[in-house]
Amino acid sequence: MPLLPGEATLGVLGGGQLGRMFVQAAQSLGYTCVVLDPDAASPAGAVAQAHLKADYLDAAALAQLAQRCHAITTEFENVPARALDSLAATRTVAPAGRAVAVCQDRAREKAHFVASGVPCAPYAVLRSTADLAGVSDELLPGILKTARLGYDGKGQRRVTDRTQLALAFQELGGVECVLEQMLPLALELSVLVVRGADGQAVTYPVQQNLHRDGILAVTEVPAPDVPQALQAQARQSAVAIAQGLSYVGVLCVEFFVLKDGRLVVNEMAPRPHNSGHYTMNACDVSQFEMQVRAMTGLPLREPRLHSPVVMLNLLGDLWFTAEGEERTPDWAGVLALPGASLHLYGKAQARVGRKMGHLNLTGATPEAARESARQACALLGLPQQW
Ligand code: ATP
Ligand code: MG
Repeated sequence: MPLLPGEATLGVLGGGQLGRMFVQAAQSLGYTCVVLDPDAASPAGAVAQAHLKADYLDAAALAQLAQRCHAITTEFENVPARALDSLAATRTVAPAGRAVAVCQDRAREKAHFVASGVPCAPYAVLRSTADLAGVSDELLPGILKTARLGYDGKGQRRVTDRTQLALAFQELGGVECVLEQMLPLALELSVLVVRGADGQAVTYPVQQNLHRDGILAVTEVPAPDVPQALQAQARQSAVAIAQGLSYVGVLCVEFFVLKDGRLVVNEMAPRPHNSGHYTMNACDVSQFEMQVRAMTGLPLREPRLHSPVVMLNLLGDLWFTAEGEERTPDWAGVLALPGASLHLYGKAQARVGRKMGHLNLTGATPEAARESARQACALLGLPQQW
């Protein structure tokens, strides 16, 4: 029996912008929401019916969350899998702690890609300095990434030779790392796959992503530079990866397209994803509503892209002039553009590199969406992409 809209209460571990947009989608369907997050200024806590301000492993808070909610999800990739496991003793939890634990550890994540038959970059797992000597030459130049707790390009070092590798391993604290071969990227893309507890899985159209300084900057759908056959391969690979984890919920799988045209999986995130924000205005069901549907056992169906779209990430940088003076971006100008939908996350303090919101620009054609995006970039002072 699904947990029905208008009746059930849903919980979220983590209170950032992803939690906020999940809560908004759930509330719009008629669910009541409870957020657990230690931050009093949590973006999701500000919109949920209740905000439990406590640590993710606070036993009393977890007990309260379980008592108040019929089903619980997470929005924060580094939420302790143990917290999810403890809730799962009495409540539906999606995704499950064991699936999240695989995504939290690059070594386990890569092993899962290999087991799923989806090619990833050649790599080695480094647990101690003793492992450095065994690294094969083909992995250099490479990227050294901490196995755990990396995001937005943090916890990574590019290395060209063994001396740099040893230094980088030390700089990253000697913690478990994965060394990946540096691949010649043509472009980056990602795929949202949604799987229900019954094993049914649906995917969204492929997103083409552009990063700046390790942070997602622009997502375009339909992916302008990805051949159809490769898009189909990416969607099938994402389904295989989700199936192998018996995953329940929205999973985002990131891929590289190499200069020789090959598709290689990079990493995955066990939740709705920044690159999936375009679904809020360009699809008939958003990634956040899909998360609600998956965790409550409501029907999943193929989502439909009804408009070509460009998503621009709005970082805190936009709140400052070149001279470092504070300013307010020209929202009125931006909202006058055809197809513009603004999403701000309610964060009081803008900081350089902080994700403050995003802007979706839809159009009747890809060119129309791009034209709006061009104008938005000009108004906001973002680099022109097209
Ligand atoms: P996020 O969680 O924000 O997506 P992250 O910190 O987990 O990022 P990755 O996605 O692993 O980091 O890498 C960040 C970026 O670095 C990638 O989007 C890609 O541009 C580049 N990159 C990562 N691995 C490789 C590789 N093996 N070869 C070439 N470029 C890479
Ligand atoms: Mg990434």
